[in-house]
Amino acid sequence: MSCGNHHDTACSEVLDHLYEYLDNEMGEGDCAKLKDHFDECSPCLEMYGLEQAIKALVKRSCGCDTAPSDLRGKVLARIDRIRAGLPVEGDLVPDDAAKQR
Ligand SMILES: [Zn+2]
Ligand SMILES: [Zn+2]
Repeated sequence: MSCGNHHDTACSEVLDHLYEYLDNEMGEGDCAKLKDHFDECSPCLEMYGLEQAIKALVKRSCGCDTAPSDLRGKVLARIDRIRAGLPVEGDLVPDDAAKQR
């Protein structure tokens, strides 16, 4: 995996369930597993933070639950790269999004 560390829960599994976790749709045990993983895995924590930021941003800007499609697309592409074990480069969050955090 891209972070180079071994985890009890695989990064691909964490990313598979990222949206369920964000929407609080996971059982308590699975929730704890993901939480532990985010503590020790910065690439996954970064993805989680990005999705959280997008969600907050969307809620603020239009009150609905649909992310701007270009930003969502970039995040999904990044998740694909992490899943494939490819290096992830560059700053994904646009300047204005970073400032509003
Ligand atoms: Zn991970
Ligand atoms: Zn990791």
